[in-house]
Amino acid sequence: MSNNQILMIYTGGTIGMYKDLKTGSLVPFDFDELLDKIPELQLIDKKIDTISIEDPIDSSNVRPYHWILLAELIKEHYDNYDGFVILHGSDTMAYTASALSFMLENLSKPVILTGSQLPIGDLRTDAKENIITSIQIAGSYENGKPVVPEVGIYFEFKLLRGNRTVKASSEHFNAFDSPNYLPLAQSGVELNFFKNRILPVPDGIFYAHTGLEQNVIVVKLHPAITETYLSHIINLPRIKAIILETYGSGNAPVDDWFINLIKDAVENKSIHIINVTQCQKGRIAPYKYETGRRLMSAGVYNGKDLTTEAALTKMMYLLSKNLSKKSIKSAFERPLRGEMS
Ligand code: ASP
Repeated sequence: MSNNQILMIYTGGTIGMYKDLKTGSLVPFDFDELLDKIPELQLIDKKIDTISIEDPIDSSNVRPYHWILLAELIKEHYDNYDGFVILHGSDTMAYTASALSFMLENLSKPVILTGSQLPIGDLRTDAKENIITSIQIAGSYENGKPVVPEVGIYFEFKLLRGNRTVKASSEHFNAFDSPNYLPLAQSGVELNFFKNRILPVPDGIFYAHTGLEQNVIVVKLHPAITETYLSHIINLPRIKAIILETYGSGNAPVDDWFINLIKDAVENKSIHIINVTQCQKGRIAPYKYETGRRLMSAGVYNGKDLTTEAALTKMMYLLSKNLSKKSIKSAFERPLRGEMS
């Protein structure tokens, strides 16, 4: 049931930054000052409580323990609020949103991340609209049920599924893109939700999973990649999984050294290797080309249309669950939170 209360969690990001006069660079300031800059919040017909992480950060400093902290905060306050708005820097927002989407199991309340490209104190700031509409989305209920029971990113008039989102621009207000999934809502004169694209309220009981395996790395293929480089990576101690950003629809070189290294990693070192495309848009079509087929037959998993951000955090989540190798593969290759089609 809705109780008209929203919890806003401040983590830092441009939204709450000011220019350090000594260096000329943007650094985060504290939350009370941020709230003073948005008197409009008082006009919203919701009670908004706020908390800030102890030391607000530029999101380039986000580490997995911040995701755990956020999941724990949401767990602690879950029953008392209709929804949650997380103010976060845009640089790693898509990673945080993806991680939280997996960690917050059976989520049945909105968790909306937002931020801005210009600080809240800037005359031309995009922060106010982003925050105010995020709060409205987090508080939208119909017949006692949340309209958006999932982790989303709201930025520049669009609500996107968090684990489908990538940061696409460092200079436009429209900073995020969801290349393989349409927006969940669009804000204009009206706030329009596209309900057929939004996940249903899950049946199970909410649970915040706060474990994450950190020995997962991302490797981007490029034509100058060498055997020595790849072999070093595969032989690094403790590596559990590699998100391999391949070409086009999942293609990679067919050189024997390359395929043998991948096979060795999968068969002898039990490393999970995931095929995701380095293209902005589209999906893995594993058997379309010989170059894709050879890679898949070396034992690589099909990352379908996952973003790298979602593939990385999904693997970190699954590997922390004590599952068998077979269950990890089957869980990885099916959608858990609407992250793949
Ligand atoms: N560097 C900033 C951050 O991610 C950029 C932003 O907030 O837009 O914290």
